[in-house]
Amino acid sequence: MRLMAASGRTKQDVANALGRTINAVAARAMATRVKFRSIRRPHEQKVMFRRRCLRCRHLFDVDSRYRFVCDLCHALDEWRGADLG
Ligand SMILES: [Zn+2]
Repeated sequence: MRLMAASGRTKQDVANALGRTINAVAARAMATRVKFRSIRRPHEQKVMFRRRCLRCRHLFDVDSRYRFVCDLCHALDEWRGADLG
């Protein structure tokens, strides 16, 4: 099973091949610390953070962990900065 995991099989593949349930394979993998390739591929999706805007307190989604205000407040900040500057 370790070899199958190393060759990029998913738990489902191994479960089918061994005639076991996916839960049995998962439990065995956990016990033997075998790393399976995930069926989902989260790295292909853009990571979005949901956070609360520090300015207007509305929830918003942002793709950067360094953004703390929503698009509207961010635009307002830029506008205000330009006005002052
Ligand atoms: Zn805001």
